[in-house]
Amino acid sequence: MRVVEKHGPVYVVDRSIEGSERLLASFIVAAPSGETAIIDPGPSKDVLKLLALMEDLGLDPRRLKAIIVTHIHLDHGGGAGLLHLNAPWSKVYVHPRGAPHLVSPARLWEASKATLGRTAELYGEPTPLPQGMVVPVEDGASLDIGGLTLRFIHTPGHASHHMSILVEQGHVIFTGDSAGMHLCGKLYPTTPFPFKLHEALASLEKMKRLNPKVIAYTHFGLRSGAPGLLDQYRELLIGLARRIHVLLKEGYRGRSLVERLRDVDPYLDSYEECLKSLRAAYMLDHADLSVEGIARYIEKFGLEMLDS
Ligand SMILES: [Zn+2]
Repeated sequence: MRVVEKHGPVYVVDRSIEGSERLLASFIVAAPSGETAIIDPGPSKDVLKLLALMEDLGLDPRRLKAIIVTHIHLDHGGGAGLLHLNAPWSKVYVHPRGAPHLVSPARLWEASKATLGRTAELYGEPTPLPQGMVVPVEDGASLDIGGLTLRFIHTPGHASHHMSILVEQGHVIFTGDSAGMHLCGKLYPTTPFPFKLHEALASLEKMKRLNPKVIAYTHFGLRSGAPGLLDQYRELLIGLARRIHVLLKEGYRGRSLVERLRDVDPYLDSYEECLKSLRAAYMLDHADLSVEGIARYIEKFGLEMLDS
């Protein structure tokens, strides 16, 4: 685990799960006063190394005020409980729909094992948080970190319990999984079931209206040109959904849908190449899960909303 990038008050920490590189980030936001926040503490595995890393950077872990999770999936929020127990002066900020699962993570853990299999074990089991330490945040609420203003924006779509965080000084937006993944210099979808396309598109518009300049992608790192990247992800989602819609109408389902998509869309092969180059073999079934998420969305809701 190491810092690979710094921009103003933001440190990008590479979590290097299973030796992967530039795939999964945690962010340390440090105000000049020394007060700090951690956005997306990441999985339980190795999460305490974040505190040691802060000391290496000359940041006092006792001034960690906030642990903020964009959403409760294990690669983003799984380590919040363990981190808090070792920094009990901090509070954990989360979307109101995610809050109960941080206090009682048993169901989240079972569901994660069912969906992610071995990858869930790699991330590690979440530690329950004391109720009083979890702060559910409303849409538009803000938090002061030593003079920096962090604004919470509810951005459902990837998950109903997703929020993004705008650091107003510098216009950096932390998008979690709501604006896709920026890996190997390209955008990739992250749309596993129960992904909701109409909510995801509305969230992208909502984030664009905040005039962000830089996107902090949990997968992975800082990219300037935020409005263009949000538009690009919108186009990517719509294009992929339309292609999957056609294949569903042709009768493709499940495995055969994924295989057929490979023939008409280079995205799957390119994503797999990318994951291999990042030494992230453990993520290889993620692309299939994203295709399945979009297919199940279309089967339930159709795509008429794109034409209105
Ligand atoms: Zn993620």
